[in-house]
Amino acid sequence: MIVPDATNDTIAAVSTPPGRGGIGIVRLSGPEAASIATQLVRLHQPLEHVRARLADVLDDDAGTDAGRIDEAVVILFAAPNSYTAEDLVEIAAHGSPVVLELLLSRAVKLGARLARPGEFTERAFLAGKLDLTQAEAVRDLIEAQTLTQARQAASQMGGALSRRVGPVKQALVELVALLEAGIDFAEDDVVLTTQAEIASRIAALTPPLSALEASFARGHVIHDGLTLAIVGRPNVGKSSLFNCLVERERAIVTATPGTTRDTVSERISLEGIPLELVDTAGLREGLRDGLEEAEQLGIHRSREALADAALVMIVLDATQLLNDEERRLLAVVEGRSALVAVNKCDLIRDLPAAGRPLPDCGDLPVLATSALTGEGIPALRERILELATGGAAAEPGMLTSLRQKQAIAAALEALADATQANAASIPHEMILLDLYRALWALDSLTGQTTPDDILNIIFSTFCIGK
Ligand code: GDP
Repeated sequence: MIVPDATNDTIAAVSTPPGRGGIGIVRLSGPEAASIATQLVRLHQPLEHVRARLADVLDDDAGTDAGRIDEAVVILFAAPNSYTAEDLVEIAAHGSPVVLELLLSRAVKLGARLARPGEFTERAFLAGKLDLTQAEAVRDLIEAQTLTQARQAASQMGGALSRRVGPVKQALVELVALLEAGIDFAEDDVVLTTQAEIASRIAALTPPLSALEASFARGHVIHDGLTLAIVGRPNVGKSSLFNCLVERERAIVTATPGTTRDTVSERISLEGIPLELVDTAGLREGLRDGLEEAEQLGIHRSREALADAALVMIVLDATQLLNDEERRLLAVVEGRSALVAVNKCDLIRDLPAAGRPLPDCGDLPVLATSALTGEGIPALRERILELATGGAAAEPGMLTSLRQKQAIAAALEALADATQANAASIPHEMILLDLYRALWALDSLTGQTTPDDILNIIFSTFCIGK
């Protein structure tokens, strides 16, 4: 756990992205923020909490009107009612990088320090304005590339994840307090908590944590996205299906086999899940002979894409029988998150082989599609989505990062140990060690490691003064 910084200095940064823009914002936070801002610009009125103030940005060396180089709007958020809980000032000038630089370097001359990345949010966390999951969500919101990602981040920022963990932690703290009290007052004929009671209390903690752990399946794909490699023989319609999914022309489609030489990728949002589609060059049997270098390179890349992708879509041609290469491909993806699109199903109806059953692809889901008519494409999207999320539904407060998942996994592991220890009638002191481990794990999730919690509960639920 990070210990609040005692130095308590004032930090400054340009908070808008680098480059030109309509408006650019310089932010200051710390005890000197207001006084530095007052010297930094010529305010038309004194600063007051959450009141916009017009100001002139002066250039000491300028030959311009009264030395003014820009105008700005300045807002003070007075401590503790600011993002960082410190005095925080935002100076919105025109988004000229040189003016913003001038303001920043002048702020430094006036005693501010350049802020480290994320330092405003770190200060908000240290001040208790945000817990760790909320602080992470601030970063995620800023980095969101799809609206669903932004919504997920916003919900986490609002404390959805912390609220899910809160009641479990509370119940765990109560159990710890109960056992601690039993130990402390063992000689004062306090009835020890029974083995059955401990077992049932621990058992009650597990389901919500397991559900939380399971939410990672969807939470992390929304957060990080996935890659889907589209593989298959040349000319089966990989690029056409890719285009159907991308919903606009990007990969080149031609009737000559082997023209998608390199891999082409495109990021789409499938129900808000960022999905990187990789259209690979056709995997071919005759790698060695007669292939141009570029095509060989493309095949090499497609094998790499196949190896790297979380999801694989094998495309077959409905008018052709499975060949050895395709059987090998099906064998290669066995056990992976994969599906099979039997494409050109529109042609089947006109062929004598119409009504032919879909090929046997083992346990892989098989769908008939037509990139030409669009048949089966909605079902294809749905199956891809199912594969991507493992069927997990969207819910509030999902785990989104490995750090969070590991914290919950560690808590579950510690609780399993506690259950075992309890079943083996091991002394409460030892069971407590496991329970504390679970507690630290939960606290590491939200960053609220406060042993005072436990003391407070002990004091409030037991009569210490007896
Ligand atoms: P790739 O080599 O696997 O990427 O295949 P392409 O997407 O380039 O398609 C090869 C040829 O098949 C092109 O002429 C496409 O127009 C055609 N094609 C692709 N999908 C379908 C489909 O579903 N039905 C029909 N009838 N033709 C298709």
